[in-house]
Amino acid sequence: MVLLKQLTRSISIFFAGLITFCCVASTTLDGRAPLVPAPLQQHVVLISLDGFRWDYIEKFAAKNLAAIADKGVRAKRMQPVYPTKTFPNHLSMVTGLLPVNHGIIDNEFCDSARQLQCYQMGMGKTDSSWVSGIPLWNLVKMNGLKSATYFWPESEARINGMVPDYYYYYSQHADYSQRVEQIMQWLRLPNGLRPTFVAGYFSLVDTIGHRYGPDSEQTKQAVLELDALIGLLYADLQTLPFAVNLVIVSDHGMAQIDPKKAISYPSLPISNRWLVKNSESRLLLYAKSDAKVDKAKQIELLKAAAKGRFKVLSDEQLAALHYQNSSRIPDIILETQPPRVFKGNEKLTDLGIHGYVDADTMDAIFIAAGPAFKTGLVLPVVENLDVYPTLAQVMGLTLFNQPDGDGATLAPALLPAKRK
Ligand SMILES: [Zn+2]
Repeated sequence: MVLLKQLTRSISIFFAGLITFCCVASTTLDGRAPLVPAPLQQHVVLISLDGFRWDYIEKFAAKNLAAIADKGVRAKRMQPVYPTKTFPNHLSMVTGLLPVNHGIIDNEFCDSARQLQCYQMGMGKTDSSWVSGIPLWNLVKMNGLKSATYFWPESEARINGMVPDYYYYYSQHADYSQRVEQIMQWLRLPNGLRPTFVAGYFSLVDTIGHRYGPDSEQTKQAVLELDALIGLLYADLQTLPFAVNLVIVSDHGMAQIDPKKAISYPSLPISNRWLVKNSESRLLLYAKSDAKVDKAKQIELLKAAAKGRFKVLSDEQLAALHYQNSSRIPDIILETQPPRVFKGNEKLTDLGIHGYVDADTMDAIFIAAGPAFKTGLVLPVVENLDVYPTLAQVMGLTLFNQPDGDGATLAPALLPAKRK
């Protein structure tokens, strides 16, 4: 679908720019009302609940999220990008770009064009050249408005030479209620100081889901804790003198794994001429020096050792996943399915893992309520690449690059823009 979109995205970007241009002025040059809809130019609060699986709202009776969805739009499922990991997906949602295009192709990976230097989560803070694209918080600034983030992966990185107007350095210990209070404080700032776009991030459901698995009582309690918090945020937003769009997303789901079925990768036949990164659902092999000449032989050895436990991804499979043509893409990728997981020599303690290609366990959530969105609408499935162009439209922003998402799957969620 993304490939199809790529064929039409130049046209859609042109029209997005045209619409935005028209929306900035209330009349055309000859004094008539513009023929295209005015931009929405509204506030957006974007909240990510890490690891919140698409079915948790019903599975655990998250009544506040269900109520907010009833007042706005909900997607039954939101499709993450590949791989279904935290950093690639968070960056795709705020840049509209595929991982190969924003550069964060996994939570940890290496780059053959950087002498196999390896990225780890959050490294953009000290070296922002790892990240490409224009995150929403910068796009807002480039449109002359203000932005704020109370955590979002790589929101502290100086991407495009910019950071959000207001932001925090990440700490998983930051109090959740305090985050909500800070978001509200930003929104109570006077005109000129108030951010049009605010992002927030909460990791609890992912952390607990990893430790205890998606079917556990502990994960249920984590879901209900965040459900209550989001209920409070939504109620607080209603006290503001202007209407705000609250958009709640997640990056991926969670799968139950069986530690007894874990694949110990040090026991696999991999020569020391390969640099190995364990990505849990996947094993990433980068060629050191001249190891590439042995790639075919190495692949044959691994296929013989797989015994149905994992597969070696082919070029065709990688193309279908839009995961190629980057010096950061490993030379060889092994991929497994739940309940299996790759592990090193350590004892495996987690019962939940994500990163798989498995819609039933990996799909995410999308909920949006506020003046830009329809009421009581349920969309069957949306793509997370469409979050960026959709929120840019809601905020009336001019785009400065060509995202991979064209907004098509979320377009039905928006109310028709009112003419000025
Ligand atoms: Zn995550």
